[in-house]
Amino acid sequence: MSKIQVLPPHVADLIAAGEVVERPGSVVKELMENSIDAGATVLTVEIKNGGMTYIRVTDNGCGMSSEDAQTAFLRHATSKLKNERGLEAISTLGFRGEALAAIASVSRVTLKTREKDSPEGTEVRLEAGEITDVSPSGCAYGTTMIVENLFYNTPARLKFMKNDRAEGLAVTGAVLKEALSHPEVSVRYIRDGKEECHTAGDGRPASCLYTLFGNDVFSGMLPAETDMDGVKVSGFVSSPGSARGNRTHQFFFVNNRYVKSKTLQAALEQAYKNSLFTGRYPACVLYITIPPGEVDVNVHPAKTEVRFLREKAVFDGVYYAALAALDRQHDRGELSLPEEKPPVMKGRVSVPSGGFKTVSAESYRSGGGMRPVSVERGFFRRPAVRDHSVPYTVTPKMPKTTEPEPEEEQASFLPEAPKWRIIGEALKTYIIVEVQDGIVLIDKHAAHERMIFDRLKAAGDRPMTQILLAPVIFPLSPEDMDVLTENAGFFRELGFEAEEFSSGRAAVREAPEDVDAADIPETVTEICEKLRSGKTADAATRRDEALHTIACKAAIKAGKRSETPEMQVIVESVMRDEVRYCPHGRPVAMDITKAQIDKGFKRI
Ligand code: ADP
Ligand code: MG
Repeated sequence: MSKIQVLPPHVADLIAAGEVVERPGSVVKELMENSIDAGATVLTVEIKNGGMTYIRVTDNGCGMSSEDAQTAFLRHATSKLKNERGLEAISTLGFRGEALAAIASVSRVTLKTREKDSPEGTEVRLEAGEITDVSPSGCAYGTTMIVENLFYNTPARLKFMKNDRAEGLAVTGAVLKEALSHPEVSVRYIRDGKEECHTAGDGRPASCLYTLFGNDVFSGMLPAETDMDGVKVSGFVSSPGSARGNRTHQFFFVNNRYVKSKTLQAALEQAYKNSLFTGRYPACVLYITIPPGEVDVNVHPAKTEVRFLREKAVFDGVYYAALAALDRQHDRGELSLPEEKPPVMKGRVSVPSGGFKTVSAESYRSGGGMRPVSVERGFFRRPAVRDHSVPYTVTPKMPKTTEPEPEEEQASFLPEAPKWRIIGEALKTYIIVEVQDGIVLIDKHAAHERMIFDRLKAAGDRPMTQILLAPVIFPLSPEDMDVLTENAGFFRELGFEAEEFSSGRAAVREAPEDVDAADIPETVTEICEKLRSGKTADAATRRDEALHTIACKAAIKAGKRSETPEMQVIVESVMRDEVRYCPHGRPVAMDITKAQIDKGFKRI
């Protein structure tokens, strides 16, 4: 009997739509998640040339019948979701039924699969999404998916792939996250014929972490665990001495799904508030377990962003897990920062009212009730004294994750005196930066807009785009629709694949990557309006105008509070003097010298 069904349109419409297959790394992510969803306990991932020419994922999961092996490649074909009610409590990694369709449409795919109790397996071959061959196969039970020559039929996409090394690193990042997310699955990863890693699959995050990152990183991690108010947290956080120069090593898994979350990040960093220098970030591998109905994963196409029903409870869980880990370490006397001791760590039990429900302050401080159960504590003890003034270099077994890590870990633990310091944000609009001889006010929207505008211009013919698997559809006036249709080529050069969808409604299938899906309707409409009013302008001006609109919509908004990392990026760019005026010619930064201030106070 077939397990896979095509979702009815009214359910498919409820699904957060958008990019899935951006690069080899995202293919590997989707294939690994399918294998995990299929109950696999052993997984092999093999890539060649950064995954551009060859990706293979082999699993020992439930396999598929011959019929399902073909249905699987239809859009919205899934065995994981039947109706809209299923969306309320998703317990599988996939649910949208889009990944295989999307992958197959831009590559050559070979699928070999056999259900355990079936005498015979099936082999299905596809080219550019079309099935070219179905035949019986004497394969092992489970599923092998081979994806070759990614984007061979979409040269425009191909052009925007980075080199094999960079794509390979992104694959490695994806493998690492999937392997960490499911320590009970043994993952073997082969890159260009060489085995990069092989996790034990023994269900212990500790052994997974050790295998993937090596002893240096591992020995700097402290076990962390809480279980309060329906939120279970377990895993590891870095000791302050093992903090890093950026956030790339913060891994959060919610119900064994890798997620990016400002809430979780803030909770973690809050716990280190008094023990880290500015510019240093804790690392972590934390598993948060909550009832599936309390987390909405249908927020973002890549399924890495989530919304929590009880955000505060989740925040507290992570915060106290990290805090308790740090406190325990401190009590063991292992924390010895040179000179500058972190204040307030000793004996601190700051329990905000209402936040901490199931553990008493006393037992909390001693770590009672929150002792890690899944790991042998002794194993993690670090040498009692660690000389933090010695450069602390990390030599992970696996290359680091996707994001580049500028200057990461090469400096000593103590950062060199910074030339500037972000003091904060005023009026939700201006970033205040202290510099050697005064203060600089930065208009964050204007500065960010400029950065994006410059990047778009530098991209030349066509900016980086995201293919939206389901188009963004929105109403457009007849006048604007005419402009859109007449200027399809112009829009394409800007990165928009747009067309009339039905009377009065436009559809965008591809958009510049800087523009959030939610901002697409407004951006396209505004460009249409500008084109209508500026008919006489020359081509270059019209293009610049359109790029302004895109940059403006993609930039962070004034009037909305910004997170420190956003501010950091903007300030760095302004301080490097790359950005001085916004695309409209307004200044992005204003200097107020110490002399000016002193004068105001009649000190000079
Ligand atoms: P989704 O994972 O959202 O359901 P996909 O397009 O990724 O959508 O996969 C479609 C369907 O194909 C899955 O629902 C599942 O039934 C089947 N499938 C995909 N990969 C595997 C696999 N490795 N083993 C067994 N079944 C699989
Ligand atoms: Mg899937």
